[in-house]
Amino acid sequence: MSITNLETQFTTLRCAYHLERFPSLATRLDRLRRIRAMLIENESAWCEALSEDFGYRSADQSSFADITTSIKSVNHALKNLKFWMKAERRTPDLSLRMSGAKTYVEAFPKGVVGIVSPWNFPINLAISPLVSVLAAGNRAYIKPSEATPATSALLEKLISDYFSEDEVAVACGDVDVAQAFVKLPFDHIIYTGGETVARHIMRDAAENLVPLTLELGGKSPVIVSSSADLAMTAKRVAFGKYFNAGQICIAPDYLLIDAERLEPFLSELKSAVENTDSSQGSADSVSIVNNRHRQRLENLVSEGESKSGRVIKLSGNNQSAYELTVVIDPADEAGINTSEIFGPVLLIKTMGGLSEQIAYINKSSHPLVIYYFGRSEAEFRRVACETSSGGLVKNDVIFQYANDDLPFGGVGGSGMGKYRGEYGFKEFSNSRAVYKSGFIDVSGFVTPPYTDVFRMVNKLMRKI
Ligand code: NAD
Repeated sequence: MSITNLETQFTTLRCAYHLERFPSLATRLDRLRRIRAMLIENESAWCEALSEDFGYRSADQSSFADITTSIKSVNHALKNLKFWMKAERRTPDLSLRMSGAKTYVEAFPKGVVGIVSPWNFPINLAISPLVSVLAAGNRAYIKPSEATPATSALLEKLISDYFSEDEVAVACGDVDVAQAFVKLPFDHIIYTGGETVARHIMRDAAENLVPLTLELGGKSPVIVSSSADLAMTAKRVAFGKYFNAGQICIAPDYLLIDAERLEPFLSELKSAVENTDSSQGSADSVSIVNNRHRQRLENLVSEGESKSGRVIKLSGNNQSAYELTVVIDPADEAGINTSEIFGPVLLIKTMGGLSEQIAYINKSSHPLVIYYFGRSEAEFRRVACETSSGGLVKNDVIFQYANDDLPFGGVGGSGMGKYRGEYGFKEFSNSRAVYKSGFIDVSGFVTPPYTDVFRMVNKLMRKI
């Protein structure tokens, strides 16, 4: 895709927005249904493309994680859009209310929204924002990841089969295309990916004052309380590392546990992994996306080991090459303490006591999610009130994403803005404040000359 083509395509979308600034409910529902049809009617093609891009990716996992999750988001929007689009009445100030004034907030489309999506769930992380963007009545322009070329090419083809080029368009290409893409004068951009690129995008978007939603990653901790069920914790954490081979922004990154419970936990983790046949070569496995990421993970582990970390490799039940690697207590300067892992490697840090664990979490930027395993509501409340993160989960991992009625996003270093469900509809809408004056001309009251009545009412207004 050349830069000129990017601009031409963008202009096509922008002109269409100007011609239809407020698509009806029926038009929006039709667009959402076409997303659903595009997903369902091409499911095997999607799964094949994903597997080609990853080297191998279980078709069942792709079907669930990329297709079903996206369809669920469409269904949720289809069911609720009518209510989201309703104007919300607001109470006017008492003095204006007495004059018969009315106030409400109504959501209007922002215009053309850019979606920059990553490789780890290349369909869902393009389609899930698209659902919110189209529900809010916008036009959409998607820049999918160059790290998954087969899936991105299929997305480009199928979007052009199911949508006209002035509704939704896709721009495939390398980083130079991505850089030019985010310089376009969008009405909003949603970017999902790493923090370094997010800083570039923010600088570029600032030139045109383009509002941003940034869905970033980071290190999501697991707090293992002294009241935690270790078998359950181990099973769920192991799942979080195996699913998509741990290449998930909300995967548990590191685990905090007191030293006495480390060995019992490792033994439970070993059993949990042995009971999982998610190893490479199995029909249900997922590969590391490319050699660059495999090498990155190997470096994190070997550096952690060389910096006094204990390393354990736990294998699935067919004893294949694919393993969950656990790195325990490397020295503070090891990169694994600060870099997002994003793969089937778990960092464990032994540290007892909730206060110490909370203090450790608070030393770094706010994570995308904090996982707490334990039975204590009081402890869970302490974690809620004494930390900050995009999401907070008790006794589970990852399944918070299965809820379309919850906002999704980070805070601070893990991102800004939230989307999905009604939160996505609002994120990509211009919530317009509407005021309709009443039957009394209030401007006459505040126009000079000012009288004693004016002065008395002015003082009274401070009391109501
Ligand atoms: P990536 O390399 O696929 O890049 C993401 C997108 O950014 C791609 O579309 C790419 O073309 C574009 N891009 C690259 N360089 C650019 C530039 N200079 N200017 C503009 N756009 C550019 O993905 P990644 O960054 O490797 O993704 C992994 C990261 O994403 C991890 O940190 C992960 O935690 C995070 N992530 C976050 C979420 C979330 O929802 N919060 C979801 C998935 C992944």
